[in-house]
Amino acid sequence: MEKFDCLIVGGGMVGATAALALADLGLKIAVVDAHRPNPELLEHPQSFDPEQPYNLRISAISLGSEQLLQRLQIWQQVLDWRACPYRRLGVWELGLSYAEFNCRQIDQTHLGYMVENHLLQASAWIQMQARKNISMIAPARLKAIETFSDRVLVTLDTGQIQCELLIGADGGNSKVRELAQIGVTGWDYQQSAMLVNVITEQGQQDITWQHFINGAPAAFLPLQGNHASLVWYDKPGVINELVKLPNEQLQQRIIKHFPKRLGGIEVLDKASFPLARRHANQYVKGRVLLIGDAAHSINPLAGQGVNLGFKDVKALQETFAMAIGSGKHYASPEVLTQYEKQRRNDNLLMMTTMDLIYRGFKQPTGPVKLLRNLGLFGAQRLGVVKDKVLAYACGL
Ligand SMILES: Cc1cc2nc3c(=O)[nH]c(=O)nc-3n(C[C@H](O)[C@H](O)[C@H](O)COP(=O)(O)OP(=O)(O)OC[C@H]3O[C@@H](n4cnc5c(N)ncnc54)[C@H](O)[C@@H]3O)c2cc1C
Repeated sequence: MEKFDCLIVGGGMVGATAALALADLGLKIAVVDAHRPNPELLEHPQSFDPEQPYNLRISAISLGSEQLLQRLQIWQQVLDWRACPYRRLGVWELGLSYAEFNCRQIDQTHLGYMVENHLLQASAWIQMQARKNISMIAPARLKAIETFSDRVLVTLDTGQIQCELLIGADGGNSKVRELAQIGVTGWDYQQSAMLVNVITEQGQQDITWQHFINGAPAAFLPLQGNHASLVWYDKPGVINELVKLPNEQLQQRIIKHFPKRLGGIEVLDKASFPLARRHANQYVKGRVLLIGDAAHSINPLAGQGVNLGFKDVKALQETFAMAIGSGKHYASPEVLTQYEKQRRNDNLLMMTTMDLIYRGFKQPTGPVKLLRNLGLFGAQRLGVVKDKVLAYACGL
């Protein structure tokens, strides 16, 4: 039976990045995924056609995440394929309460990039293919685990593997979490999100904005050229109805619902996602550890989900490097607990902030509406505090 230092279940954006970060420490890594992404692109990266339609799943990648991805040699390929920088971030409910954050406030050239999830994942897989100490096992599904004090025996539908540490990076419905019997705290939000890829009348913009309408945000994410991604948050029933409309009718509804600054659009593609919050009660149980959405799924309101996952990866690499450097076993209870302590507080802070925003803006009228608009109005004039908030949101 093959033996590895770490077996990562889930080669999504977070799992694949974690594999590269831990391989850089000299550990022998295996990555298991139910799907092998983009086989054509992995074989021939230059076969990417920049004119091909945008995928609906797009993430706002923060400056902090970009630094990690650069270090792991994932980033350049993503830029070579397709990504769109944004330099400003606008939020408002009433016209007067408009708050704008600008990269110049924190002496940066941009605040982040809009990137298609599948391209980021494919670039990480290309790097994994090039590392001798990473084995990729895909397609394969996790079936069972047997945990011991110093190892985990993992049964896949393709055979058995032994590892010293099992890392669950298998997303919000994590099988690793379930098999390790780690409970979650969470709830379903009374909102769904519809992602809509559009062509806009205006050319490429350098701003991403969010307008709160009756307690729910409508967001604009810029893409290259005249492309953009819109996010319409609403009650699940409303989103279910909207997503079934023919594109021409949806177009009319968007023009009515979104702020005037959107201008004319043409709908190209759309899909909807239910929103849920899940937080694992433990990130570590014996020799099992959870990262990314397997540990925490957050309201996507401020585009922080995968960025939190990348912060997990950075912390994991640093904690393990320090342990190895001081002669400790990277998967000892002391080291894993240290990792969990560091990440739980930060993740909880971001999840709670998102919930406060979600709840604060859900109240469509009355004193709460007045207070939040005063809050945004004040935020625009906060100076140093505003810069600190922005730096934190950018992962700096
Ligand atoms: C509408 C929406 C918009 C979002 N926008 C943003 C944004 O702008 N910015 C941001 O930072 N985040 C955003 N997010 C969140 C972000 O998409 C997630 O945080 C991110 O995808 C999590 O990555 P992951 O690698 O942890 O998990 P996933 O992307 O879920 O990857 C899990 C991987 O595990 C594999 N897998 C699952 N089960 C098994 C199994 N049993 N055996 C083998 N393999 C398995 C899957 O095939 C997959 O490859 C958004 C989310 C939503 C819903």
